[in-house]
Amino acid sequence: MIRVPILTYHANNINGMAYNNNDHIALANDLATIHELGIKIITLDQLLAWHAGQLPDAAVEHSVVLTCDDGTDFDFHDIVHPDFGVQISFFNTLKHHQKNTGAAVHMTNFVIVSPAARVVLDEKCLVGKGWWQDDWWQLAQDSGLMAIANHSWDHNHGVLENNNVDDDSFRCINDKNSCDIQIRQAQTYLNQHIKGSYQSNYFAYPYGNFSDYLRFEYLPEYGHEIGLKAAFTTAADHVDKDSDVWAMPRFVANNDWKNKHQLKSILLQD
Ligand SMILES: [Zn+2]
Repeated sequence: MIRVPILTYHANNINGMAYNNNDHIALANDLATIHELGIKIITLDQLLAWHAGQLPDAAVEHSVVLTCDDGTDFDFHDIVHPDFGVQISFFNTLKHHQKNTGAAVHMTNFVIVSPAARVVLDEKCLVGKGWWQDDWWQLAQDSGLMAIANHSWDHNHGVLENNNVDDDSFRCINDKNSCDIQIRQAQTYLNQHIKGSYQSNYFAYPYGNFSDYLRFEYLPEYGHEIGLKAAFTTAADHVDKDSDVWAMPRFVANNDWKNKHQLKSILLQD
């Protein structure tokens, strides 16, 4: 049975310059491990096409999908962090890896969409230097290396004034109106903001959690209507043919694996 891991990184996880406290360092090392094991990086489009029976098993055998969440400028631009120095962006890390190895690389970036929320999050959760912009989304999308996807309107983040009930959870997004605000509105913004043939197709649940209404009613009923093909959790499991498209699992860096050995077990499915 074919099983494919989806790996997830957070570029704002910068608490040092070691593998276990900096996802930029982790990603660079993990790309080397993936290459060393002869595992190919495929896109979410390829994974979903296989899942829908439109690609043969051979297309996804011995492969991995890369994603990242939240969409700060650290994803795309090399930035000098005030405490820890130069951080090579995920985008440039992918680009360098492709240049050095010739390997195909791709990452899907689930961005927080609301401009106003990103201003507040930058101030309260990042460095407060305006490093949560969206002017690079088009460049990322056009590069073919980093696709832009939906991580909700504002993450229902606890630091926001309009935060819905319990802090730091997506479980209270549990009726049609709040789902429309968080997901449909974000779809519309992404599709208007990114030009060309772009269509936002994927949604990652903030915090990896969700209400039964969102997961079992809203997305099955309205998901396709608003252009979504799949939604992603952080359930630390592999995707297989039986995975539900509205709850596809992902592994999270520095949570579900903390070193090369643990990553290898995920990749090789030991
Ligand atoms: Zn997030």
